[in-house]
Amino acid sequence: STVSATLSATSNLAKRGVLSKGSAYLSQLAEIDAIAFDKTGTLTYGKPEVTNVHFSDAVNKENMIDIVIALEKESNHPLADAILRKFDAKNKLPIEVTNQIGKGLVGEHDGSQYRVGKPTSFEDVSAEYTRLNAKWASEGKTVVYIAENETVIGLIALMDVPNKNAKATIDYFKKLGIHTTLITGDSEMTGKAVAEQLGIDEVVANVMPEDKSNIIEQQKEKYGVTAMVGDGVNDAPALVTADIGIAMGDGTDVAVEVSDLVLMQSDLSKLVEAHKVSSKMNRVTW
Ligand code: ADP
Ligand code: MG
Repeated sequence: STVSATLSATSNLAKRGVLSKGSAYLSQLAEIDAIAFDKTGTLTYGKPEVTNVHFSDAVNKENMIDIVIALEKESNHPLADAILRKFDAKNKLPIEVTNQIGKGLVGEHDGSQYRVGKPTSFEDVSAEYTRLNAKWASEGKTVVYIAENETVIGLIALMDVPNKNAKATIDYFKKLGIHTTLITGDSEMTGKAVAEQLGIDEVVANVMPEDKSNIIEQQKEKYGVTAMVGDGVNDAPALVTADIGIAMGDGTDVAVEVSDLVLMQSDLSKLVEAHKVSSKMNRVTW
């Protein structure tokens, strides 16, 4: 019967590591026209590592690193964790820091203002820094600028490894004609490099946390039934707006709570399995 086919699909999938908050969601998964993915922690492992550090010759590198550490200590972003793992603070600088969520951090020290964060929010940038940013971003790295009183005096590049099942997952949906999108707060260049590696159709970059949900609204209008896969606190509104919200199991509690499906062990291959089971379930049901 319909009911027992549905129940057995839901419980079979649970055994295989996909939790569904109701069989209706599982059933709807087979109907999607588009699927959007967050980048950091969803298509990538969300454990970036510092790969490149560059400072202008004129600055005292040790002092600058102490300042960067003082700023990053006020953030719980994965980029901050990576930067703090990389450097040892020699001096604990007492700096009053403002965390500009989605952009970076700012603080005052010895009469100067220091800022670390997203390249697009800096204006006084030399040709050399612009070139290094482009080079590293085109390799898929995330670049953060460091500025003293508005002038960029250093940059740090960080690399996050794509989830080992990300490429196969994207391939699967594309073969079925389902539109794939990467949504990220990271730069256009970094987003495009990652999307290219994975074969993703569309990139929406430089997205502020509060705008992710609007992007999903637009995807629904453009493509039809839309799923969203994410892990972060800032993905929660988009996961709710999507027709089906899908959380990475190791993601934040909020993402898991608001989602309709949860991928245990944050294993993206389970999303493919769930889609296959959903398609089969609908064939039995009709
Ligand atoms: P994502 O969607 O990739 O998780 P976020 O919206 O959290 O991105 O951040 C967007 C950008 O803001 C980052 O790519 C980075 O350039 C900058 N940024 C955010 N937090 C920090 C931080 N703690 N240190 C430096 N830069 C940061
Ligand atoms: Mg994320």
